[in-house]
Amino acid sequence: MERVDVIVFAAHPDDAELAMGGTIARLSKEGKKIMIADLTEGEMGTRGSVELRREEAAAASKILSVNIRENLKIPDGNILLSDDNLRKVVGLIRKYRPSIIFAPYKNDRHTDHIDTFHLIKKANFFAGVGKYSVIIDGQQSEFYRASKIFYYMQTYEFDPTFITDISAHFQEKIAAIKAYGSQFYSPGQTGPETMISSKGFFDYIEARAKVYGFRIKKEYGEPFFCEEDIELDLSNYLKGF
Ligand SMILES: [Zn+2]
Repeated sequence: MERVDVIVFAAHPDDAELAMGGTIARLSKEGKKIMIADLTEGEMGTRGSVELRREEAAAASKILSVNIRENLKIPDGNILLSDDNLRKVVGLIRKYRPSIIFAPYKNDRHTDHIDTFHLIKKANFFAGVGKYSVIIDGQQSEFYRASKIFYYMQTYEFDPTFITDISAHFQEKIAAIKAYGSQFYSPGQTGPETMISSKGFFDYIEARAKVYGFRIKKEYGEPFFCEEDIELDLSNYLKGF
């Protein structure tokens, strides 16, 4: 199995696009191999069906040039820190051997996002424990741990460890979010209004990208948090001046 550079873990289809669609587009356009792993099919969502969201996720992946998208089919609203779920995620990490993992920040309005944080953090740790046995395709998997987990921002804000410049990819991010026609505002769309289906939601997405862009003197940005220190390569940094 060919390894990937990055796995973006998300509780629901559309979370990855909303929180870091610009960063995904930027990395994939630079030739990095990107995988999005949605933990659930979003079947508890107020709007849209599982089938529709599956089609929408495929369309969004295409816009962002994502190489692989998998769905772990964990029940929506019930992302338990169970042995079964842990093995699913550890199996994926060991199979695709990403250098970096992205996951939801530790606190959020939606408790599925918090549960995903705990599951991914534990899974990346145990993926690197030799005696933690997971069978993949009938074979004992080799232990492997991604070097870092970077956490992305959903509803609740945090002080970022770093911000990525997504100015050149903001439009792709918006196009990928709009691919989820059942979830977000589109003229003439029917169904009960939710927080994210209101007309003002896209203004909010743009405003946040502008705020974090401004903080790094760019047009648009996406914020991330890391629990560990990150080295800054000063020589490389100085080349940017
Ligand atoms: Zn979500």
